Formats: sequence, structure tokens, C-alpha cells
Amino acid sequence: EFLTDMAAKRAELTPDALAFTDHDSGLAYTFSDINVRANQLANRLLENGLSRGDRMAVLCHNHPDFFVLLFAAQKSGVLLVPLNWRQPVAELQQVLHASKSKVLFHDDAFAVAAQGLAANTGLELVPVGANDDGKSALNQYLEGTTPSAPNEAAIKASAPWYLLYTSGTTGLPKAVIQTSGMATANMINYCQATGLSTHETGVNFLPLFHTAGINLPTLPIFLNGGSSTVLRKFDPDVVLDLVNTGKVTAFFGVPAIYQALALANTVASSDFSKVRSLGCGGAPVPKHLLVDFQKRGVTICNGMGMTETGPTVFLMDKGKAADKIGSVGKAQIMTDVRLQSSDGTVINGAGEGEVQFRGPNITPGYMDNKEATLATFTVDGWLKSGDIARRDDDGYYYIVDRIKDMYISGGENVYPAEVEKVLDAHPAILEAVVIGVPDEKWGEVGAAFLVPRPGEEIDTTALPGWCRDHLAPYKIPKTFTVSDDLPRTAAGKVRKNILKDSFLQK
Ligand code: ATP
Ligand code: MG
Repeated sequence: EFLTDMAAKRAELTPDALAFTDHDSGLAYTFSDINVRANQLANRLLENGLSRGDRMAVLCHNHPDFFVLLFAAQKSGVLLVPLNWRQPVAELQQVLHASKSKVLFHDDAFAVAAQGLAANTGLELVPVGANDDGKSALNQYLEGTTPSAPNEAAIKASAPWYLLYTSGTTGLPKAVIQTSGMATANMINYCQATGLSTHETGVNFLPLFHTAGINLPTLPIFLNGGSSTVLRKFDPDVVLDLVNTGKVTAFFGVPAIYQALALANTVASSDFSKVRSLGCGGAPVPKHLLVDFQKRGVTICNGMGMTETGPTVFLMDKGKAADKIGSVGKAQIMTDVRLQSSDGTVINGAGEGEVQFRGPNITPGYMDNKEATLATFTVDGWLKSGDIARRDDDGYYYIVDRIKDMYISGGENVYPAEVEKVLDAHPAILEAVVIGVPDEKWGEVGAAFLVPRPGEEIDTTALPGWCRDHLAPYKIPKTFTVSDDLPRTAAGKVRKNILKDSFLQK
């Protein structure tokens, strides 16, 4: 049940090797730096009266200090709660309150917000991140602390390590318990899927308050002894520059990241040959995006995971990616998968149903929320993803849609994702989103929202004809609305519930 102190072990193996570089300030941490700083921070927290099970929050843009906080959390047992800096202060206040956080780490960019959040509470504020002189703002808090591991460092595989909130695509975000065991299993899944070696260099730009920012694949790279360049946030030109100069060998982005890279001026002349592994997932990946990169000789591997799954479950193998475009591959070694039909029977062989997971990368549940945990697991311990997946004859999986997004038109099930794929393929459309809305005659019908490609105009009168060539009549949306802006979560996923509310209010 006990795991090794990961940062300590890594520092023992390769103390002087580079672990993280802060792109903007040039600050660099070796494995030994990370371990010593994490020990110091853990000691300070325990000295200050915090203990195992307490919570500390962090509100900062990406910076190597984040990983110091993360390993200090593992060593001390004080749970780290990374806050979503895209949320308004009122929502952050609720998260701080609900998570019972006693300390708030923040960088300079959020100093004012942090002051506001701490007013009239007992919350202790501690600066982290880059100072003007390029040094870390956390140094002051660490002064005079012991550099050796705290006595309490006892790392249990099943003990909560940190909390992550889901994206809030289908409702209010839920706080998912992340354990050390989950991270270990995720690392095995990710390394097995990608062939991640011990000499990998990564670039960290996905926000660190979501699982992808921490675990895809920054933490696996760290545990394997590789290094990562940390960007405050995503910038396509900086990322392409790192790619071109051979400074990145392993890469993961959500679809919105690849959309932005595809639109960058320098993408056509970019050389991806040093990037051995390019992963994409977290949301449905438009086929044209995979095909466009493939035409340039760049293979992107689609993968599927959830905050609740550590996240790696499915990841396409590079050799098959071109044959099985759109597939998320097979389930990796640490995770059992089953498909369940709506009547509760388990599907064998090829078929379609809710995809459910079991294994050491799956969360024990939602924090302080037994009701949600009970609702999410079956009685025999499988995590219900809420997603419909299809398995083909070769055992490859395809994410069809979320169960919640399916609607019924004239008695027939419609998966918006299928309709979206047809619209996405239209030359004037960059992104299509379809929701089910009430209709007197059919019960429900589709309403489409369309973002045009740059410089293109969408002729909506021609779209029913375009759809007719590819879809049964009941699947064709009844309304088409062109929009430059769609409501999104921080992970770039479209919030269909908000679109639906605004449609119904019209
Ligand atoms: P919430 O649970 O709060 O509604 P969320 O489910 O979007 O939000 P995450 O845990 O960030 O929060 O995302 C997991 C979900 O993302 C999966 O259940 C699935 O619906 C979707 N997803 C992830 N990867 C893919 C993919 N490659 N293709 C299609 N959908 C994906
Ligand atoms: Mg979810």
C-alpha cells in the first residue's frame, strides 16, 4: 500500500539533471531542487499547524513552483487544490469555502484577487511564481526550513494527494480525489501507449488546474527523469518555436490547441520530426484536424480520459492512427473497460454502449460528496463515464457522444456528435455544435451553431442540402445559427447547457 516518495526517489536517481525550466524567467530547477524545496515547504506547512487531510489552494499561471507545491502536498498529506483562474472571484470564494482551504498560494498576477478572497477569512496568503528579479517568490516562505523530508512523509497509494475539479461541461464542476496510486497507474498507461522514454523533453502549457496540465505528460516525464519547459500559458508561436528547435519530444494538446496551431502563420514551415509523440483529446477531435496534420506527415494520436481516470485510459497507437482516424485506440494496461447497453447488459465483441472503467487509475470518488460518488459508480465498482463508445471488430474504440447530449427526434436517437462531424467537414465551417431543443411536432429537433473559418461566409440556406447527402432526414438540424463565439469551459469545451438555455430564452 505504501509508495515511494516520488520526488525524493527521483532526486536520488538523477539529482543534478534538469527537471523544469520556466520559459519566461529562465529559472531552472534540478530534481534535487524540486525535492529539497518540496521538503522545505512540507516542513513549513506542518510547523505552521497544518496536518494530513487539511487543504491548501493555489491560484497561479503555470510555473515550476506548482510542482514544488504538488510534491509538498504528497510529502505532508496536505491536499493541494488548484484553482481555475478563469472562474470569477465569487465562484473561487465558494471553492475555497467548500474545500476548507487554510492557505492560498498565488502568483503576482492574482495578488489583488487573492487579497479579496482572503478578506475577513482566516486564509493565509503565500506568494509563489516569478519575482521581477527572476527568482521564485516562494523563497521567502521557505527561509529557515529543514531541507530533509518531514517525518510524516508516508505516501499511501490510496490516500488523497490533490483535488481536481471536472471541466463543468455538463453541470457544476465536481471535486475529484486524485491519489498517488492513480498518478502511478496513469504514468504506466501513458508510457505504454506512447513509448515515452527516460530522455523526454516536454512543454507544459495546459492550465495546471486540470488533469491534462499535470498528467499529460508533465508528471510522467518528471517521474521518468525527463525535463519540461513551463509556459505561463499557451502561445502557438512559442510552442512552434520549441518544436522547430527540437526542444520538445512529447506533446499533448486539447483540440482547441491544435486548432490554434493549425491557424498559426508558421505552422506550414514547422518541423515536427523531433516530436515522437503527439497526443490529443479531452474533447471530440474534429477529423479534418487529424487529416490536415497527417497530410503534413504529422501523426496525432487521439486519446480519451476523464478527471476521474487519472486521466489516461484510451490512447491511439501511432502505427495505426492513419488507418483508424477518429478512434481513441485501445484501453491501456492498467485499466479494464466494458461497454454496457441501456438495459444494463454488458456488450461483448463489436458494439456500442456506455463505456465504464475499473482499475488503479480510477478515482476513489468525489471529495465530500458521497451522493455524486454513489451515482457515478455501479454496485460492482465500475466508473460510469456518461459517454457512449463504439468498439469495432479489431477492438478499437470510438467515442460516439455523451449520453446527456443525445436527443430523440420523432422517436429516433440522434447523437449530436455525428451531425457535428458532417457540418465540420463543410469547407466554410471551422466548428459546429448541435444541441437538441424542444419541438411540438417531433419532440426534439437539432439546433446547430456554427463558427466560420477565417475569411469564409457560411450560406446557411445550403446547409440542409449538405446534410442530406450524409445524414438521415431526422438528424438534420432545423435551425442553423452562425456565431463567432461559443460559451466554453477553461479546457475549451463547448458548454452545451449554456447554449441550450440561451436558445430557449429567445
Ligand atoms: P463535467 O464532468 O463537469 O461535466 P467534463 O466531463 O467535460 O465535465 P473532464 O473530466 O475534463 O470534464 O472531461 C472528461 C470528458 O471529456 C469525457 O467524459 C468525454 O466526454 C470527453 N472526452 C475526453 N476525451 C475525448 C475524446 N478524445 N473524444 C471525445 N470526447 C472526449
Ligand atoms: Mg465528466
